[in-house]
Amino acid sequence: MRLILLGPPGAGKGTQAQLLVERHGLVQLSTGDMLRAAVKAETPVGLKARDIMARGELVPDEVVVAIIADRIEQDDAKKGFILDGFPRTVPQAEALDRLLKDKGLRLDAVVELKVNEGMLLQRVESRIAQMKARGEQVRADDNAEALAKRLDAYRAQTAPLIDYYGDRRALATVDGMLPIDEVAVAIDRVLTATAGSNGSKPARKPAAAGKAPRKAAKTAKKAARRAVPARKKAAKAAKQASKGSRKAAARKAGKAKKGASAKGGTARRSAKGTVKRRAARKPMKSRVKRPRRLTKRR
Ligand code: ADP
Repeated sequence: MRLILLGPPGAGKGTQAQLLVERHGLVQLSTGDMLRAAVKAETPVGLKARDIMARGELVPDEVVVAIIADRIEQDDAKKGFILDGFPRTVPQAEALDRLLKDKGLRLDAVVELKVNEGMLLQRVESRIAQMKARGEQVRADDNAEALAKRLDAYRAQTAPLIDYYGDRRALATVDGMLPIDEVAVAIDRVLTATAGSNGSKPARKPAAAGKAPRKAAKTAKKAARRAVPARKKAAKAAKQASKGSRKAAARKAGKAKKGASAKGGTARRSAKGTVKRRAARKPMKSRVKRPRRLTKRR
C-alpha cells in the first residue's frame, strides 16, 4: 500500500501517518522529518535547507525529490509507505509519478485532510505547548510568522495537487476536523475500498470495514448526517421565500439544495470509501455560501 497524505500544516498528517504505521506496518516517509534530521546532522542538504525551512518556505524540488528517490529504494519501504509532506508541488508530484513508473509501482491512494484554516494556528500553538511540556525543542518554523508563510506556500504550491490527483481520480477527501480516531477510521475506510477496487491485498487489520462492520456502518451514518446542515440551509431559504421575494429565495434554496445533495454525495461516498470522489468535492460549503460574483477563479 502506497499512499499520500495531503493537507496544510497542522492538518494532522503526521499524527495520522503514525497511526497508519502502527496499524498497517507501513513506513512513514516525512520529508519534513528527513530535512530536520539533515539540518541537525549538518549535512550538505541540511545546511542548504536550514534557513529556507526556518522561514517557512519550500526547499527546492530537486532536493526533496532526491531524498525521496533514495528513501523509497530502501528495504523497509518495499512493502509500502505513507508519504507525509511529499509531494508538495506539481513538479514533485510529476517526479514521483516518474519514480514510481520506473519501478513499476502504483500509488494506491491520495488522502486529503480537509481542515478549517482558522483552526490551524490554534493547533500549531497547542503542538508548541505540548512539545514544551515534554521538554522537547520547538521547531524553528513553529511560530506565527513562519506558519503564515507555510500556509501561503500550501495555498500557492501544494493546493494545486488536489486538482492534480483529483483529475486522476486518485483523491479521497477526509474531514480533518473530526477527532483523531474518527479521522483514522475514515482513512482506513478509504484504504479498504481502494484495496478492494484495485484487487490488492486490503490493509492489515482494516479497523472499520473488516473487524467492526457495525462501527463502520455507524460512522458512515454519522458522515451522512454531516450533510444535514446544508440541507437545513435549503429549507431555511425556502421558508424565506414566503416573506420576501419568492423568486430570489427560491434561487437561493435551489443553490443550497444543490450543495446539500453534493455534500450528501461526499459524505455517502467517503463513508463508502470509493475512490470516485472528484465530482463530490467541487461544490464546497464556501461556494454554496458566497454569491456567484465573489467566486471568481484566480
Ligand atoms: P508542516 O506540514 O507542518 O509544514 P513539515 O514537517 O512537513 O511541516 O515540513 C516542514 C518544512 O520542511 C516545510 O515548511 C518546508 O520548508 C520543508 N519541506 C518538507 N517537505 C517538503 C517538500 N516536499 N518540498 C519542499 N519543502 C519541504
